[in-house]
This record gives sequence, structure tokens and C-alpha cells, in this order.
Amino acid sequence: MTIVPALITLREIRLPLVEPFRTAAGTVDARRVLLLELTDADGYATWSECVAESRPTYAPDTVDTCWLALTEWIAPLVLGVSFESPVAVHPLLDNAVRGHNMARAAIEMAIWSLDALRQSLPLATALARAAGAAPRTRVDTGIALGMQSSPAALVARARAARDDGYRRIKMKVEPGRDAAWVREVRDALGSEVSLSVDANCSYSLDSASHRAALTELDTLGLAMIEQPLAHDDFVRHAELQRTMRTPICLDESIHGAASVEAMLALQSARMVNVKPGRVGGYAPALAIHERCLRANVPVWCGGMLECGIGRAYNVALASLPGFTEPGDLSPSARYWARDVVTPAWTMDDGRVQVPLERAGIGVEVDVAYVDELTARSITLAAR
Ligand code: MG
Repeated sequence: MTIVPALITLREIRLPLVEPFRTAAGTVDARRVLLLELTDADGYATWSECVAESRPTYAPDTVDTCWLALTEWIAPLVLGVSFESPVAVHPLLDNAVRGHNMARAAIEMAIWSLDALRQSLPLATALARAAGAAPRTRVDTGIALGMQSSPAALVARARAARDDGYRRIKMKVEPGRDAAWVREVRDALGSEVSLSVDANCSYSLDSASHRAALTELDTLGLAMIEQPLAHDDFVRHAELQRTMRTPICLDESIHGAASVEAMLALQSARMVNVKPGRVGGYAPALAIHERCLRANVPVWCGGMLECGIGRAYNVALASLPGFTEPGDLSPSARYWARDVVTPAWTMDDGRVQVPLERAGIGVEVDVAYVDELTARSITLAAR
């Protein structure tokens, strides 16, 4: 079934957050979101989300660099081109464009969604078929708690998350706000609750105090320590992992299948956070999933403060069999006063339902609301 992308509309919207989200990199109170609407030559249409943030703190990609990359380089590469399968999109873009993974992913994943629509399949089913599997019907959900003002505030948030039913509570940490804070949460919530931390690259093995904090975190029964060291440092992550019982999980370090090979060869970590935007789309995410299944390395789906459109793509990915750890798939109401999709994403007993009743991404985009929020837009057509 040939897909010919005919029209791409890019929009930037500004979506207010329910509460400011603080990490080692800074604080955001509204999210600039890049949305993409793709129509093919037969009139099928779908939406996708480019997960880049405003500033290059998590990744080099930003809303503005992705806008440029999509309009100048990436959209022209796919518009008017016939694709026999969505699998063919990634190699084309990967050959022609170095980096700009989040921009490439926005188009690549939209083409997967169009392909599912054309086959009248839910996106999760189409993706699972590509992986030779069947999708799960529900996905375990974890929460990522931003940096809080005090250990007591962190304990309160963690307690609320447990009461909400989240299957894993992940806390952002940074030097000086780490082991002692997490110990208080562990003491308050007990040993049964799955706790983990995410350092977003903020520790260095050159610092004695950082090493001491990491050693202490290793005593707290955590499910994982996510990305403690620099994004490009596989060797030192391996050095650290050799000294720790707690699995290290890589996030910022993983840009595609080759990063996973490096991680496995060096034994830099024992777990992988897969964000399809960070790795350039679904085809590389599927390759990572397959490789990690073979290596017996658990994977899970991370979050980028997506709105309900990006969430749909993450939920579909997280329904694959190798995604054995809870994903960062919080319901819409955790982040947004009002999501841009209906129905909004909800959580029941710590799980998100995979929408398997309808073709495509499984939710309806509230176009009138998106129009209201739109700050700029551009439509690109095949020449
Ligand atoms: Mg992370």
C-alpha cells in the first residue's frame, strides 16, 4: 500500500502546564509544542507531535531548530515521494540529514500513523505487527516527579503519586538534592513501592561528593538510576555500573541502535529508556526494542511532556512486549488544564488503556482548540 505524503502543516502552539516542572536543567510553566498534520495523496490525514523543547538542555533539538529542519530539509525530502512501507522513511531521512532526530521523528511517525489508518488498524496494532507481536491492551504507568523545594515536599508528592496508583515513582535528582531526599521518601513509603531516580547527566565521577551521593543512592533499593553521567560518556557509565547493584538506565545517551550496541558492548547500563523522538522515530525505536529483547535488557518508554498527540505515539510504542517497565505515560490531567485530544488520556489502577478500538492514533484532535493555541503555522506541499 503506497503512501505519498502530499501536504504537511506545521504549527507551534503554547499549551499551559498545570504546574511548573523543574529538573536539573530549569523550570517550564507552559509548553511550546510543535504539531504536524500530514495528509497523503489519497486524502488520509493524521497528526503527530515533535517533542523538542524550547531550549537545548535535554537534547540539541529545540522547537526552533526543528521548525527550520522540518520546513527547509526534512519535509521536502518526503513530500510527493512514494513509500511502499513506513519502514522506508527512516533510512531516507537518516542518509540525508545528520541529527535533528526529533524533527525527523515527527514526520517518520506520522507516516506510520497514516499507514495504520490506510489499513484501518490501530497504530499499536500496526506497530506490533512490524515487531512480529501483538500489542498489550494496557500499559503500566510511572510518574516523573520534578525537583521539589524540600525533602518533605518530595515525600508529599511521592505519597500522593502512590495513592494515585502509579506503578513506579521516579524522582528528579541533582547534586545536593539526592540521596538524603530519596531516603526520606523510601522511609515514608516503605520497601514495596518501586522508586527510581533520574539525574539528567548532572553527576561527574571526578567529584568525590558526587561519587559519595551515587554510592548512597545505591543503598536505597531503587529500580534504576537514570542517566547519572554525561550524555556522551559510555565508558564512565560502565565504570560506575561495575560498582553499583542498582541498574543504570540510559536516556540522553541513546540516539539510535548504534548507541545501544555501544552500551551493550561496554556494559554501560542494564536498562534503556526509549523515546521515539530522541532516536529519530519508530523504525529505530523498533530496532532498539528488538535488540534489547535479544540481550534481555528491559526497556521502557520515557516522556517529553508531550500533549495528548505525542502521548498516543508513546502509548502505542509502550504496548510492545519488550516494554516491561512502567512508562512515563501520566494522564493528560497531570500536565494540562485541557489536553488537545478527546478523549483525554486517563489512568486506571496505574495503567493506561491502549486504544485498540479505532484506526490510527486512537484519539481525536480538538482542532478548534489547537487553532486557538496556534502561534504560527506553515503549510508545505509537494512541488
Ligand atoms: Mg530521563
